[in-house]
Amino acid sequence: MAEETIFSKIIRREIPADVVYQDELVTAFRDIAPKAPTHILIIPNVLIPTANDAQPAHEQALGRMITVAAKIARDEGIAEDGYRLIINCNSHGGQEVYHIHMHLVGGQPLGPMLA
Ligand code: AMP
Repeated sequence: MAEETIFSKIIRREIPADVVYQDELVTAFRDIAPKAPTHILIIPNVLIPTANDAQPAHEQALGRMITVAAKIARDEGIAEDGYRLIINCNSHGGQEVYHIHMHLVGGQPLGPMLA
């Protein structure tokens, strides 16, 4: 059984976070240390530690993360100019929180890669 992270507490609203979207499958909230004008994390409500742990049973939640990202991008007014969706995995990927999350980053030109 994977260990919960601070993100589970955000899903349950046990600690403060700037939640911009939540439904039965996913939660989205502003990154506490934004790397661009828009920096939002989209996570499944179920604990999937890393991309390596993704199973067929998770496909609905993982797919919802992308459709919700597109909705939030429209709401934030950055859809037309564009943005970046990033999922970091394990140490070489730079993953710090072991509850899979998609970064939605935009609001400025991002260059070839975002570290
Ligand atoms: P990663 O390196 O992909 O694991 O990214 C983890 C992200 O979570 C970082 O961008 C952090 O700034 C962000 N983060 C960590 N704790 C919180 C929190 N309590 N609320 C919002 N964002 C957080």
